[in-house]
Amino acid sequence: MAILYPKGGPVKNESYTAEPTVYYALARQLSDDFVVIHSIPWLAQVAKEVDGRNVPTGEIDFLILHQTLGILALEVKGGKIHYEHNMAVLPNGDRFDPVAQVRRGIHGLSRWIFNASGSDISYRFGYGVVFPQSMVKGRVLPPALIDTTGEKPQSICFDQQDLSIIGNQVMMLMHYWQIALGNHPLSPTTLHTIVKLLLPDPDLTPTWVERIELTKQHHLLLTAQQSMRLQQIAKHPRFVLTGRSGTGKTLLAIEYARRLVSQDKRVLFLVYNVALTTAIKKELRDLHRWDPQQRPGVVVRNYHELCRFAALKLGRASEQEKGKRWYTTLAHQAFHDAIQNNLMGSYDALIIDEGQVFHKDWLTDLQQWFTSKPLLICCDETQSFSYEHKTSAEEIAHIINAPSPFTLTYNMRSPRPIFDRLEQVITSHYEQQSQRDDEQDTLQERANPDALEELHKAIKQLQTDHIPPEHIMVIYWKTSPTYRDGFEKLVGQTISVYKCRGIEAPVVIIWPYIDTIDDITWACAYSRATSRCIAIYKPITFLKHYDEYQFAKVLASGTPRLSQWIHQRKEQERQQQELREAHKKETQELRALWPSPSWQIVAFENIALQWSYSWQAWYLPKQSTQIETLLWAMHVAITSPYDVYAEVQGYGIGYLPGYRYIRKFLSSTKANKITQEDFAIGWCKTCQSWSRGQIVSMSHDSIWSCSDCSHITTQTPSYSDTNEQGGKLNLLRSAQQIVMQDSTVFSIALSDWAELHSEQQRFVEEHCQNTEESLNWVGRIITATEILALTPGSLVETAIIHRLSWDGIPWLATAITEEQWLDALVLGMRLWARYKAVRRKSKGVYEVLSLGPIDAEPTKGYV
Ligand SMILES: [Zn+2]
Repeated sequence: MAILYPKGGPVKNESYTAEPTVYYALARQLSDDFVVIHSIPWLAQVAKEVDGRNVPTGEIDFLILHQTLGILALEVKGGKIHYEHNMAVLPNGDRFDPVAQVRRGIHGLSRWIFNASGSDISYRFGYGVVFPQSMVKGRVLPPALIDTTGEKPQSICFDQQDLSIIGNQVMMLMHYWQIALGNHPLSPTTLHTIVKLLLPDPDLTPTWVERIELTKQHHLLLTAQQSMRLQQIAKHPRFVLTGRSGTGKTLLAIEYARRLVSQDKRVLFLVYNVALTTAIKKELRDLHRWDPQQRPGVVVRNYHELCRFAALKLGRASEQEKGKRWYTTLAHQAFHDAIQNNLMGSYDALIIDEGQVFHKDWLTDLQQWFTSKPLLICCDETQSFSYEHKTSAEEIAHIINAPSPFTLTYNMRSPRPIFDRLEQVITSHYEQQSQRDDEQDTLQERANPDALEELHKAIKQLQTDHIPPEHIMVIYWKTSPTYRDGFEKLVGQTISVYKCRGIEAPVVIIWPYIDTIDDITWACAYSRATSRCIAIYKPITFLKHYDEYQFAKVLASGTPRLSQWIHQRKEQERQQQELREAHKKETQELRALWPSPSWQIVAFENIALQWSYSWQAWYLPKQSTQIETLLWAMHVAITSPYDVYAEVQGYGIGYLPGYRYIRKFLSSTKANKITQEDFAIGWCKTCQSWSRGQIVSMSHDSIWSCSDCSHITTQTPSYSDTNEQGGKLNLLRSAQQIVMQDSTVFSIALSDWAELHSEQQRFVEEHCQNTEESLNWVGRIITATEILALTPGSLVETAIIHRLSWDGIPWLATAITEEQWLDALVLGMRLWARYKAVRRKSKGVYEVLSLGPIDAEPTKGYV
């Protein structure tokens, strides 16, 4: 089958059958090394539109191209034809010369190809005529239908009978012309070039840059509705205009300002948002003047700028320094007072945009300032953020004595998909209409856990679409994106959603906040885009706010993959919640079983030790401070041949409320390093006891895993003799030994510790984290208790503490060297110097400071 252009082919109808018949006959009968182009005038028109070059005016019904056979033009004439005096005549009497027509056509076309190819392609075309509804065979033909250029006369005419063999006939005719015209074969490149010249493939889709430009021109024209409102405004000196974002309130207000100025009026244009002030100033820059001569013009100000001016006039400029109070009370007070004292200057008219966030009191003052002068207030109640004061359009109308608010309902700014999305999310009680075409590619909403990657992808796409950075606005909520690799240079501005109200940009990218999606705020961001909006979401946001916000619901329901993901995650969450509930119930029940029935409690006046037969170790319950617990535990580890488990505060990774957290201290004779290990105690159903284990994972089907199941103790229990009585006695003796042996550095530290009052203890606990090096740790506590016992201003010497403790605690000499102990104390003093409990005076000499308000941040670079 031949390669055909146009692909679809002509469509047959009652009065148009001849060319379609020939088209399909050629299509069927010519092989794929033939190119058949139907209807050159159609092509010519396209070619002219695209490149404006001079195009042939002749009409060629078919052009057939082949590499070796050259080019043939065919003229097709339907209807029953007869010839009269060398002219073809149709039944309706029309007379014409088909051969002359086709010859004119090919001359025009070959000349055009020669020019269009830059004088590169000069080729002579063969030609022929087809009468698909007439019979010529066996008739005497007029001379025009016989060519005599070649060696033998050749008929150049095909009739109805030829249609079934037209492929063959065409090939023969082309062969004839090739010889008669002395044509060389066409090279593949030349053939391709000719086809490209005749059939350019222009992409007529407007580029994004063109679309942005068109949008700009389009939406800056006033709609009929806006023009009508403008006329109404002229009739009512007081006017309140309301409408959703994108309905053109600001545009109309600007136009109104222009009209007033053209009537020699001096206009004050008042807004709330700083960015919007700048945008309007720019829009009205030709009319904007802050002019003492009172010439006509527009002064654009935001409310707080005006308040600052008022404060200046009243001589209260310094009040602006007062931060929050300035914004809550002082600014308005100054504004109010300046108006009362007639200090604010004089204007002929007032226009307010964003009226919904103007407080009633401000409006009352403005009403007084502009008594009997024209006043237009634009507002939109859907555009006030949760933290802002809101005044309704009706309230505004009431304050300024205006008729009921007028509503704009035609959205000009937002592309249709954005408009539709906002309609879905924030329903209105009146019908709104979009004036824009439904261009689906103007809104893209993408969910990606890696939001930054998605943002960079979006920016790259915009770059590919040749959208200049100044057209691109990135809107964030709470935290601005941290661009990488210079991406920030590819966007015009990155702005908080709270600062972008009223302003717009051709392209908006919305940057997600991790765990919130608020409808009003997000709608504000969406509606900033005039040509294109790319909203980026984190999937987790949908999970958290699915039931709370329309945006989450609407977007998820329109995205099967997302809603499926949400469903799965919700199910997982539900299961985890069940697991947590079950666990909570279980631990509550088990708590009643604490301590294990098999544990033996040995209580003394100041310490309650327990003995676990199954663990073959001491268990030390939580003391009143963590430091006490740890000091006791180390004391027991040093004085007893058994390990000790001390109950500690659980925190950090793996912490789950409801468990007991314990730290194991290995029985040791080395005082400088006592091996420690953390566990969580849980009730093990396998062991049927309180067991040592670890918090595994929240998503795991078991939260806590027992470590005791895995190793079975083969050790003979030491304290559980066959003689129960004897066992208990041994236990008591052993415990007594521990408690009576009160001369370790840990027990000395314990008694020092008890001397400190609770605030001092808190300070030490806060800054003295337990370390693997138990001796260094206790060195910190001993130095701290020494320092804190002294009054501020006293001097304290490391050497003296060292001497006193080394001499006073003989146990030290049995456990470590004197040098090791000195090192521990030196490190301790340095720590307290760092936390400003002492100040270094000279080597080893420190002055005790008043702790006062404790500075939690250590000073850097201590000695
Ligand atoms: Zn177990």
